[in-house]
Amino acid sequence: MKKAFVRFGLFPASFSWVLLSAAIAAEEPTVRIAILQEVPSVRVTVLAPCRATDFSTGKLIGQWPNLKWQGVEAGNPGLKIGPIQTESQTVLLETTNDSILRIDARPYRGDLIFTRTPAGRLTVINRLGLEEYLVGALASEVSSDWPMEALKAHAVVSRTMVAHRVWIQKGSPFDVTADTATHLYYGVASERQRTKEAVEATRGQVLAYEGELLSATFHANCGGHTEDASELWQVKGDPAPLKGRADPYCRGLKHFRWQADLSSTAFINALGKTAEGIGDFKECEILERNASGRVRAIRIRGAGGSALFSGRDFRKLLGSNRLRSLNFTVNRSGRRVMFDGFGWGHGVGLCQWGAYGMARRGKTMDEILSFYFPSAKPRNLKGLPGFVSSN
Ligand SMILES: [Zn+2]
Repeated sequence: MKKAFVRFGLFPASFSWVLLSAAIAAEEPTVRIAILQEVPSVRVTVLAPCRATDFSTGKLIGQWPNLKWQGVEAGNPGLKIGPIQTESQTVLLETTNDSILRIDARPYRGDLIFTRTPAGRLTVINRLGLEEYLVGALASEVSSDWPMEALKAHAVVSRTMVAHRVWIQKGSPFDVTADTATHLYYGVASERQRTKEAVEATRGQVLAYEGELLSATFHANCGGHTEDASELWQVKGDPAPLKGRADPYCRGLKHFRWQADLSSTAFINALGKTAEGIGDFKECEILERNASGRVRAIRIRGAGGSALFSGRDFRKLLGSNRLRSLNFTVNRSGRRVMFDGFGWGHGVGLCQWGAYGMARRGKTMDEILSFYFPSAKPRNLKGLPGFVSSN
């Protein structure tokens, strides 16, 4: 994101300060990523002129030629930035153009927003342009060694997903988190030349359906069949691009198959209150699968009774990294419960390893996108109803 410079009279002529110009911000949305939530404190380092202002009023709090390993923490009543105690609940830290800000040891582009939470702790938000964000975010999700057509397809899907979040999160403190809940993001350290090329080659391109930004998403491996979005979320009109389909391209690739096993005692304990009182574990009975083969309902029988779970609750209780998907069979072997499954993740949208498989077979970005999002059209974000010019 290019930024405008303005000069403050109190500073030496060499000090140029960043302000988000409305005209420049309108070229692309800014993204607010919660990189840390509810932490006691952080250390911030900026090796360039920087300033802190109250986020709501714009009132200057402090300005420095640089900041080295200064603490930021919740004070009373507001935030403490280095030696300065302020009454501000939310503070914006800005620096000169293209300078890097470090939170603890990790470098970030853009600006930082520190918020004091009601619990007296700290949330740290990184704010930067969508395209700059994507360079680091894409390399946080997939290897930069992947074929370029797969990286470009993923860049379009990531841009669509995050732009959609920016749209629907307007008015909230942040748009995305930096973990798997939305989109992995490790900041500058994860940026790679090839992911930068993929982002630049697709600049501004998103998926749209019926004239609106698509609520796109992705997962690691669908295990042979992607999932209908309507199985997981309420979707307006059950759109064609978000319907599940058979996927031959991820077969045999990473995360296509998984196994897990645990003791029957640990299994019953993990299921919590609902399984209390059913006694010694006897068997699992899968009651219903959906069209993609994923488990919708499962009954657990014990010596003293049984308990019923939806597939989604069942996976959540056992842990989404242990039970990597809902496409599984389950058996008892002595005192152990054995799972055998396919894929990793919810299965909606782009199958990352399927995209890799398609690109390895010579498919283009457009072919990958139209396979996973049929009827959706790549187009420029600007001009779509979902385009948000600034926060
Ligand atoms: Zn797949």
